[in-house]
Amino acid sequence: MKYTSTEADALIDQEFAVLDRGEITLLDYMGTDKAIVDAARVSVKGLKKVTDDESLIRRLVSDRHTSPLEMVEFKFRAKMPLFVARQWIRHGTAHVNEMSARYTVVPDEVYVPVRTRIQGQSMDNKQGSDGSEVDEVAEALMVFDQSAKRSVESYHDLLDKNVSRELARGPLTVFHYTEWIWKIDLHNLMHFLRLRLDTDAQWEIRQYAEVMHSMAWAVAPMTMRAFRDYSLDSMHLSRMEVEALAGLFGPLLEESMGGKLSMGMLDDAALNPIITMHLDQKCSKSERSKFGNKLRRLANFYLNGNEVRPG
Ligand SMILES: Cc1cc2nc3c(=O)[nH]c(=O)nc-3n(C[C@H](O)[C@H](O)[C@H](O)COP(=O)(O)OP(=O)(O)OC[C@H]3O[C@@H](n4cnc5c(N)ncnc54)[C@H](O)[C@@H]3O)c2cc1C
Repeated sequence: MKYTSTEADALIDQEFAVLDRGEITLLDYMGTDKAIVDAARVSVKGLKKVTDDESLIRRLVSDRHTSPLEMVEFKFRAKMPLFVARQWIRHGTAHVNEMSARYTVVPDEVYVPVRTRIQGQSMDNKQGSDGSEVDEVAEALMVFDQSAKRSVESYHDLLDKNVSRELARGPLTVFHYTEWIWKIDLHNLMHFLRLRLDTDAQWEIRQYAEVMHSMAWAVAPMTMRAFRDYSLDSMHLSRMEVEALAGLFGPLLEESMGGKLSMGMLDDAALNPIITMHLDQKCSKSERSKFGNKLRRLANFYLNGNEVRPG
């Protein structure tokens, strides 16, 4: 069976501009939400369908049952500066074929950041910019521009002297554009997006991640909705953060229950009204139950401190 999506079909071969000279195109895709659902149901073939498609997908994503998500694949063509490609290539669970600078003459295309991107070094994030334009922004832009021209000139100078392409590329900078075909399944794309849509990721690679994210919505909207709810907009907490939250949560719980807390009090009957009041009404029975368990864990941290582990 061939799974198709009208929204995704409309995107095929459309070039989306990214940065000043970059592009990203969805060349092809395989599978949709339905491919995930059908794969997940392989073990219950012939049995009565007990869950609707979206609930099943939400369950898969929230429980990290990820193999059915690998049934959906994407093939992109992307053109990006070399420094973006270096960050991107670290995601080793994809298949890639890149333009060869040994085989072909590299186009004279160099990334020049827009003025608002010429920001100072962040003081609290050693890998990031601080969000404010530097004082000498016009001069800095000129340096970027001159460096781009110089590197292109040196490259062509070496080619003109009959130096081989594989060596002549030496003067090219990491701001030169490269191009590749990138194929990845939805499970690993979601992992990529989680890391590269984050504000900790460099702004330039985030621009590419944003476009691929919206393309993935066209291919598998139910799965992307679940990805947003259970992954992208969810939070991972450290032990220290759990303790801190437990300190805030314990007194609130005592106030709402009108007395000193004990673990024995926190049965379903006590927690259900709190869950109903605070959890989205659309959450399933199993989500309500998981939330109840998390509240119990927080209460346990509050009453007994850390669930003691060595160290
Ligand atoms: C904000 C940010 C800053 C970064 N800074 C740096 C940096 O300074 N220097 C640097 O070198 N990198 C840096 N990286 C790259 C980072 O360390 C990862 O290599 C990259 O994000 C890919 O992540 P991944 O391995 O989880 O993804 P994938 O390669 O897509 O792998 C997916 C998952 O497969 C498993 N897996 C993949 N490869 C292996 C393996 N070899 N063995 C076992 N399991 C594997 C892991 O569970 C992994 O999470 C940075 C990344 C981000 C997002």
